[in-house]
Amino acid sequence: MIILVSACFITLRNGSQRLVVNEFTFHRSYDRKHSDARRWRCSARLKGCKVFAILNGNEDSIVRLSGTHNHEPPKIRRPSEADPGTR
Ligand SMILES: [Zn+2]
Repeated sequence: MIILVSACFITLRNGSQRLVVNEFTFHRSYDRKHSDARRWRCSARLKGCKVFAILNGNEDSIVRLSGTHNHEPPKIRRPSEADPGTR
């Protein structure tokens, strides 16, 4: 099964970074046990969504995308200065 993934980074006005994968937003998760892995959690984690994404060390590709979202993708307002299509 091939999963087409579109992913990019956006920077919010407050300076925090979000990863956007297939229109779902993720925020960086600091995990002391896996400090070498770049783990990002779905921004709706507080709603019970357990999806997470793991990026490689360069954060230029997704190594793993786990789980299924239990909600609709959020409406994203892309800042004009966002990098289009970071791969
Ligand atoms: Zn989610």
